[in-house]
Amino acid sequence: MCGIVSVLSLDEDCILDRILGAMERLEYRGYDSAGIACIDASAKLHRVRSVGRMAKLRDAVRTDQWSSINGGAWIGHTRWATHGQVAERNAHPHVCDGVAIAHNGIIENYQSLKNELISAGYEFESDTDSEVIAKLIAYYVKTRGLQFEEACRECMHVLQGTFAIVAISQNVPNTLIGMKLGSPMAICIDGQCRNFYIASDAIAMSSLSNSITYLLEGDFVVATRTQGGITYTITSSDGLEVERGVEPNKIQASCVGKNGYESFMLKEICEEAIVARRTYDTFDPRIIDISKFSKVSLIACGTSYYACLLAKYWIEALIKIPTDVEVASEFRYRNPVMVTSALYIFVSQSGETIDTLCAMRLVKERSCTTLAIVNVDGSSIAREADITIITPAGPEIGVASTKSFVSQIMMLLLMCVPKERVDIVQIETAINSVLADKHNMEEIARFIVGSRSVFYIGRGPSYPIALEGALKMKELSYMNAEGYPAGEIKHGPIALIDDEVCTVVIAPHDEYLDKTISNMQEIIARNGSVLLLASQDFREHMREISSHGATECLFLPTLHNVYNPFVFGVAVHLIAYNVAKSIGRDVDKPRNLAKSVTVE
Ligand code: GLU
Repeated sequence: MCGIVSVLSLDEDCILDRILGAMERLEYRGYDSAGIACIDASAKLHRVRSVGRMAKLRDAVRTDQWSSINGGAWIGHTRWATHGQVAERNAHPHVCDGVAIAHNGIIENYQSLKNELISAGYEFESDTDSEVIAKLIAYYVKTRGLQFEEACRECMHVLQGTFAIVAISQNVPNTLIGMKLGSPMAICIDGQCRNFYIASDAIAMSSLSNSITYLLEGDFVVATRTQGGITYTITSSDGLEVERGVEPNKIQASCVGKNGYESFMLKEICEEAIVARRTYDTFDPRIIDISKFSKVSLIACGTSYYACLLAKYWIEALIKIPTDVEVASEFRYRNPVMVTSALYIFVSQSGETIDTLCAMRLVKERSCTTLAIVNVDGSSIAREADITIITPAGPEIGVASTKSFVSQIMMLLLMCVPKERVDIVQIETAINSVLADKHNMEEIARFIVGSRSVFYIGRGPSYPIALEGALKMKELSYMNAEGYPAGEIKHGPIALIDDEVCTVVIAPHDEYLDKTISNMQEIIARNGSVLLLASQDFREHMREISSHGATECLFLPTLHNVYNPFVFGVAVHLIAYNVAKSIGRDVDKPRNLAKSVTVE
């Protein structure tokens, strides 16, 4: 979701390509428009914006004007619209009286600030919340006689909501300012102090510097350019100058390529077996003993929430501890009862999901134990949790989560079963055999394409897999898809079944099988078409049951019950991928979605 990259540099003539490259590395977060502003060597402000992909912005800067700009202060932004349509006039940077800003997040009191600025004579060109920031800084400079830096500080105090903001001014061309509250922001400087960067994440900075410093909430950073190099200071929210730790940036640009695959998503699905193995190998059981807690609460959003739902089955069945699972955006606003003897587990791929982060802060305020399972080392959730486990899935660039789901569920399983009792070879081999069945998956996709909508049903641990399958189908193909507990479908959704609706039945060979098959029969009896995902050892039996013309079967390796979610999970990922691909969707960047959900 939305990305910022900004540079203050002594290398004036080669910044454009560098900033475009860093913005392209931010593309994975999801965005709908992009823009750059720069102050040139004669202190003139330039801006270019475009709607759509970065390729459009590259086209826009392929002009004489932009190729000849030399300048030391640059800001770039990829916007994921929250306020105001996707349109060039709403794209960032926003400018006012020589000030340019880029903003990630939401300014909650923007309307009252906007009214105030309109009364003071300002005219707004966009519908965004962010434009007030540029105008407010310019207003403070003009009416209160403040310097640019002071005006930014004043502005930061007035803004409510969440933000990461960078600002430059043509009146102070050697200064770059960053402000952080609630949205991720990091800085880095190169060894010779010739280049200073502020960006949203480590991936953006991956080929710019080997180190990174994460800013904390309320931090205000000012970088200044002199002939001798760049210097910077950070002020914390209590007004004191502070130092923040410098860490190695472990993400290198080479980790974020497609490695010969046609899409990031396919590459990442094909890594699911490796990731399951890597998660198993790196898991250290000493880090957490769930059995010491009276209760477990798992809190997450999206696919991570489904991983948590699956963990509930495992924790209650295998460790016998009461467990609840909740969507973070609901948990944080409903005054939940918390108990200090409970363990609160927060799961997030990016480690920046704002609802999960805020839910975790709420739990920490009540002095309860927090455990984070995140895929991005150094992310806000990773840094703030009492205990952090990093899923070793590696950078996940495809917007729809795939390999990180596998890593999350492996991590959660290893918390419930002694490591030596988990047959990782069986899991790895089974996932690989599903991945190898490429041709069959394309056939299966053809069976679904053309359906008016798709239901996914399953019982027990197959229910979260049904939800995950439906979510992936929606995200990637934009088809209407819903996941249901198989036993629940007759309590309403069955009214929708007809021959244009396809139901994907997740039916591994486990204790729920007979019941799930009965629910499948109820759908077949109403002319619904069915795609049955079943275990290989049930092939003969299924053949008899599913002789109905509108039924297709996909048989997956037979495994110990507990491992079924791994193979059925990879199957639903591949099905959604193949459906989306066959109808020409952009699988890596589905419309309207963001990878790192940093706004509420
Ligand atoms: N709320 C701002 C807008 O809609 C910023 C969105 C973002 O973080 O990209 O323009």
